[in-house]
Amino acid sequence: MRLLLVEDDGALAKVLLRGLREEGYAVDHAGTCAAANESLDLNDYQLVILDLGLPDGDGLSLCAKRRANGMTTPVLMLTARDGVGSTVAGLDAGADDYLTKPFAYPELAARTRALLRRPAEAVSPVLQQGPVRLDTAAHSVWRDTDSGPVLVPLTPREFALLEHLMRRPGEVCRREHLLEQVWDANYDGLSNVVDVHIANLRRKLTVEPSVAASDAGEPDLIETVRGVGYRLLAEVA
Ligand code: CA
Repeated sequence: MRLLLVEDDGALAKVLLRGLREEGYAVDHAGTCAAANESLDLNDYQLVILDLGLPDGDGLSLCAKRRANGMTTPVLMLTARDGVGSTVAGLDAGADDYLTKPFAYPELAARTRALLRRPAEAVSPVLQQGPVRLDTAAHSVWRDTDSGPVLVPLTPREFALLEHLMRRPGEVCRREHLLEQVWDANYDGLSNVVDVHIANLRRKLTVEPSVAASDAGEPDLIETVRGVGYRLLAEVA
């Protein structure tokens, strides 16, 4: 899940970025309308969190323009306390929801989850692929073993990576695409970060030999597509 945060208040942006990233979202940050437009032109986002008062324009007209140009990405608007008028205007401009400043971070996190929830997920928040079950609501992953399901402890980033793959069984996910969707534009760490996380996932999702010797030789759930990326096996025996 990749988000764009458009907020010129540096201190507030810092808090929101940290919180959202800790929850495993890839978040890009723009401090101006110009930067927001550039990011929206370049990348695919699942949600835009948009402040109204920006140094080079206002979020309202930015939102209205992008909507007029066919943008369907959900928009969560951040409005000022005295802005009853701006709240109505925000919804009219195509925002899906709004939060009045000041707000507590958990409220923003809850609105974010609500806007990202897909209709299908409301019915079944659980993804199952072979022996692995991922519960998007509870944020937990279970692995079947001979002695029953075992909880697999994953970091938020590993969870986001696995969720991305499990939503696309049998589909090749390019390394660069995974980097974009699970990390963010400013990521400038190790270039093999995707491979490292995949290796960790494989290790964690493998049943300990002592737990189930009969599982020895089972196919890897995550397949490497040489030179391209990774694919989650659609059918695991
Ligand atoms: Ca502002």
